[in-house]
Amino acid sequence: MAALTPVDEVIKMLLAQAVTIDETEIIPLRLGRGRILVRSIKASVDVPPHDNSAMDGYAFDAGDDAIVAGGRYGVSDRIPAGHVGKTLEPGTLARIFTGAPIPEGANSVVIQEDTEAADEFVELKERPEIGANVRPRGQDIAQGSELLARGHRLKAADVGLLASTGVDQVEVFRKLKIAIMSTGDELVEPPNALAPGQIYNSNHYTLAAMIEEMGMEVVDLGLVPDSLSATIDALARGAGTADCIISSGGVSVGEEDHVKAAVENLGELGLWKVAIKPGKPLAFGFVRKTPDADAVPFFGLPGNPVSSFVTFTVIAKPYLLKFQGNEAAVENSLLVTSEFSFKTGGRREYLRVRVSGGNALTAALYDGQGSGVMSSVSWANALAEVEANTQVLAGDKVKVHLLPD
Ligand code: AMP
Ligand code: MG
Repeated sequence: MAALTPVDEVIKMLLAQAVTIDETEIIPLRLGRGRILVRSIKASVDVPPHDNSAMDGYAFDAGDDAIVAGGRYGVSDRIPAGHVGKTLEPGTLARIFTGAPIPEGANSVVIQEDTEAADEFVELKERPEIGANVRPRGQDIAQGSELLARGHRLKAADVGLLASTGVDQVEVFRKLKIAIMSTGDELVEPPNALAPGQIYNSNHYTLAAMIEEMGMEVVDLGLVPDSLSATIDALARGAGTADCIISSGGVSVGEEDHVKAAVENLGELGLWKVAIKPGKPLAFGFVRKTPDADAVPFFGLPGNPVSSFVTFTVIAKPYLLKFQGNEAAVENSLLVTSEFSFKTGGRREYLRVRVSGGNALTAALYDGQGSGVMSSVSWANALAEVEANTQVLAGDKVKVHLLPD
């Protein structure tokens, strides 16, 4: 039996072959969430652009020793947000509201609650120091500083951050088009009725949702019967329309498994038996629509729903992220306390677990860990990574990878 390739080695080999797409587009910032930046972005302005009041209150000159707690002072100006006040008259206060620029001559704000306003004057109950309740210019962002790096995936806060510096469009990598094909004579698309021996095609739904979650586009190659010609035809269609093809099923060594031969017919295949459970049979290669066309990368995931989920998450995803330009993708693993005992065999296992707890995080194991038990993945919020030939005992630390919502 051919040796199994360790998971980390497979990932390393794949990443060495992944080349970031070179097509980019400029899109409105409003549509930027989930997209990957082509270049780093520097701030063109200071944020905030002026010293401003953090509170509603009275601006004054805290360098003036004549202004003291218990004193009463005239109010020489009123400065709402969005308006610039006049230079502060010495010995007076300026009424000021949150976000309004601190006037020339003032350098501190006494909050409204620490004052007593009468007809002609305001009494200070407290007398703050220089800089109190003042948000200095550039406190958030200094002009010229790097806001976000090349390869960063924009999240909600990032698009707001860019807007706060006046940006309204961003250059991002074009969305990858990922074609999905579901192999298997037994498959039926929901909601058609199942005939005896048939099951619903669930892998397409899981894979499509994960691809869209990553900010990529899905091309549906549909159901592919277990025949060599149908498999070749689907691969050729995928190679003509997508940047990458992902199939599920048909990668084992049974005579109903045609993916290997079909890929070899249209390109080259490196079929690995990966030391991963679930998901041992996993194909990677390249296919061409015609002999002189561009080679399109291909992943052949196993058909069992949990296996295809796990191999996509662990092995295909890092490759696709680099392909899409998401160089700054962060590793999201944690060490938590195991609530369960488990012994692995000769392959690294990815167990479906639920991580919970506030101060002390623990991982609970789903009862059914079979590769067909999709309920385990639906229930889980993380995959626990346990090395081959390892005994985990309750109370041990285990490495978990948090799954996206
Ligand atoms: P295979 O890898 O083709 O031998 O399939 C392994 C198992 O996964 C079989 O029980 C298949 O019926 C099941 N399977 C394959 N493809 C799908 C799919 N798209 N959705 C749900 N189950 C599948
Ligand atoms: Mg099959």
